[in-house]
Amino acid sequence: MTEPEATAIERESMEYDVVIVGAGPAGLSAAIRLKQLGGDEVSVVVLEKGSEVGAHILSGALLDPVGLDALIPDWREKGAPLNTPVSSDRFMVIGKNVALKLWNWAMPPILSNHGAYIVSMGNVCRWLAEQAEAMGVEIFPGMACSQLVYGEGGEVRGVVAGEFGLNLDGTPGEAYEPGMELLGKYVFLAEGVRGSLSKQVIARYRLDADSDVQKYGLGMKELWEVRPEAHKPGQVTHTMGWPLGSNAGGGSFMYHLENNQVYVGFVVHLNYENPHLYPYLEFQRFKHHPLIAEVLKGGKRIAYGARAISEGGWQSMPKLSFPGGALLGCAAGMLNVPRIKGNHNAMLSGKAAAEAAWAALQAGRGSDELTAYETEVRTGPIAKDLKPVRNVKPLWSKLGMLASLGLGGLDMWVANLFGFNVLGTIKHGKSDADATGRASAHKPIDYPKPDGVLSFDRLTNVSFSFTNHEESQPCHLKLTDPDIPIGTNLPEFAEPAQRYCPAGVYEVIRDDDGSNPRFQINFQNCVHCKTCDIKDPSENITWCTPQGGDGPNYPNM
Ligand SMILES: Cc1cc2nc3c(=O)[nH]c(=O)nc-3n(C[C@H](O)[C@H](O)[C@H](O)COP(=O)(O)OP(=O)(O)OC[C@H]3O[C@@H](n4cnc5c(N)ncnc54)[C@H](O)[C@@H]3O)c2cc1C
Repeated sequence: MTEPEATAIERESMEYDVVIVGAGPAGLSAAIRLKQLGGDEVSVVVLEKGSEVGAHILSGALLDPVGLDALIPDWREKGAPLNTPVSSDRFMVIGKNVALKLWNWAMPPILSNHGAYIVSMGNVCRWLAEQAEAMGVEIFPGMACSQLVYGEGGEVRGVVAGEFGLNLDGTPGEAYEPGMELLGKYVFLAEGVRGSLSKQVIARYRLDADSDVQKYGLGMKELWEVRPEAHKPGQVTHTMGWPLGSNAGGGSFMYHLENNQVYVGFVVHLNYENPHLYPYLEFQRFKHHPLIAEVLKGGKRIAYGARAISEGGWQSMPKLSFPGGALLGCAAGMLNVPRIKGNHNAMLSGKAAAEAAWAALQAGRGSDELTAYETEVRTGPIAKDLKPVRNVKPLWSKLGMLASLGLGGLDMWVANLFGFNVLGTIKHGKSDADATGRASAHKPIDYPKPDGVLSFDRLTNVSFSFTNHEESQPCHLKLTDPDIPIGTNLPEFAEPAQRYCPAGVYEVIRDDDGSNPRFQINFQNCVHCKTCDIKDPSENITWCTPQGGDGPNYPNM
């Protein structure tokens, strides 16, 4: 698809010092830090596509407070919703009916969760937004940024946000609102993983020219209310192994937070080869493992959601600054894979970007590159978090889980003790789309039917994401070539979109006699995970930003 640029439509515009796209931990931290430094002298706006701050935040989360400590050292006194410190930490390798606990002392110290908190990251973001607004940041939820605005010198000048009321065919409808241009001396893209504007900026300025390919996982999560006797506040469990086995890399997490609530989640690395793999059903059957089932039985599932995770780590991080702005947090892939944690780095990157922008503004600069931000990320605490673990993911992809545990563990231990990686920097290899193998070379997988008690069919679960998209607007999932799904993907890859989408957006429908296959896109179900934009073997699907307020409405995920 060609890059949509601000069109000739007349729009009002507003000028700020800094425009921030995305009210996640990265964007909100940047906004807060700018106001801490500049007070009334700096104008900051945050635009968020979710109906409210937190509506699209899924990472119910083990939060390393290092980012929050740096940003708001008195967060406890200010009532930040970090209520459940980790009380016990288990790492298990599981088979179908067995579970083997790894010794905590054998784990590299960087993987320890001691001192972390189990939080609803949605609620943490809501709290951060309150802090930011009290300092004078303007936050506009329900405002999706759909286009970038470029200046005459080719620099990013701002974004178009708040376009509503397009017809299905993309023409302006009766209630059309063109949105506004929000212009800034600096534009921060804090869209999270596989941001749609970030993707355009990375391509336009070739920010990934010197970095390795980005890798991803698909994270799916449910929030459960469990029986009081099954609830162990602060308990953290991570597993690897069953049911994925050698079919794919990945693992699970189960975190007991407050109020008899438990997050149970499952991550599937998206570089799996077998196109018959059905990540959603892997998650559902995983919950039947005795270790998990005994916690969930008698409880009820309250919410469901899914989101991609960036897994490329240190070597896949693109150049972070571009003329007129910067990529923050997981828009640049700052997740630490073996820790499954990215919120702390997102916050640290927001803080660093804000400090670089404030220094530049004070020096009378604007619309140039914030190289000081780049330097801070590549030499400061984010680098110290990401560099030592950089070989875990490529080892897993190339040699499997056990080798990754052994060799990756050794590499992390040495990095912890001596400050360097014995294995140097291992490259990732193929993109996740390219990793997908031919259907004929792989066996279909027989999945058990969800029982409706511990496991659920996909569409029922999607209703627990509370997602919604107005049906009269254009489909935001664009096919570059509409013939590819049936003409190429179906015969060659058994059209894997039917299975990799955790929300049932993509279907191949047929006549009653099984003939005449057609590709159907139920975009109303989309939970904005971006997996289709990543995993389609023909790279034929582009996830474009739908109108503001659409998408999931996660409660306290
Ligand atoms: C299942 C799962 C479990 C995880 N568990 C943990 C964990 O336990 N601990 C941990 O630290 N990390 C965890 N993570 C990772 C963590 O979620 C990310 O590292 C973190 O969210 C990155 O923060 P961010 O601010 O960069 O992006 P995000 O948190 O994704 O925030 C981006 C925001 O920008 C908005 N946005 C995006 N595009 C636009 C646009 N064009 N216009 C307007 N708004 C836009 C989005 O709606 C969203 O609100 C997990 C992730 C997943 C998927």
